[in-house]
Amino acid sequence: MKRALTALAMTACLTLAATVAATTWGDSKQKCPACGAEVAVQEIASYGSYVYQWPSKLQLLYWPMTDPRVLYFCPKCHLSLLMGDFKALPADKLEAVRAAVARLKAEQPALKEYWEVPMAYRLPLAEAAYTVLGRDDAFWARFHRMAGYHLELSGKPELARAARERALAAAERLIAAKAEAPPLKENLIAKGSMLYLLGKKEEALAALQLAKGTPIEGKGFTDEQKKNGNKYLDDLAEELTAKVKAGEPLPP
Ligand SMILES: [Zn+2]
Repeated sequence: MKRALTALAMTACLTLAATVAATTWGDSKQKCPACGAEVAVQEIASYGSYVYQWPSKLQLLYWPMTDPRVLYFCPKCHLSLLMGDFKALPADKLEAVRAAVARLKAEQPALKEYWEVPMAYRLPLAEAAYTVLGRDDAFWARFHRMAGYHLELSGKPELARAARERALAAAERLIAAKAEAPPLKENLIAKGSMLYLLGKKEEALAALQLAKGTPIEGKGFTDEQKKNGNKYLDDLAEELTAKVKAGEPLPP
């Protein structure tokens, strides 16, 4: 009886946890690394591993990348960078970053919050800064997936499509280079997801099938991580395959 009650209490707790599973942000201020202005930004206050089960996983994208707050923006010089990168820039690249941002800077309507500045405006600014700073294909694959996600939500399907073409190209470069991080299994699922979003259903299914037969390899992972990672990504590939076969749109 005691055990049954414990199980019941556990179930109740899990149900409660599911209903209150929310991410929260807090106010903060940071110095713009390009112009020195004090910028109001949002920092993560709380979140949980439940974000890995949210529907954006089918695009290999996870909160906070799905939240427009993740892309910081300086209202003075218009530097845009992902939250963890909004800090001192390499001295030898500072002038080139400032110049790249200035080239794209355009008048914006006054907005109270930085995350209300359209992603379609902030993303190219971030891309210009990261191009100067230099980033690898693992970064660009994720950056362009994120761009596709936000541009679609902002009602810019053509721009979203262009971003996903680039996310796909970056995933294919990672696969061709036999990259270890992210592992091949993940790159194949990302490839399948982008192909489906680009309307290539059969190619998407082939990539997902290949992903399911590809275990995670590499010295960078413990046996436990490989086991959990394989299970998570196999389930993800399975769920995505079902969506593709049914021809259902991927939920945001
Ligand atoms: Zn600035």
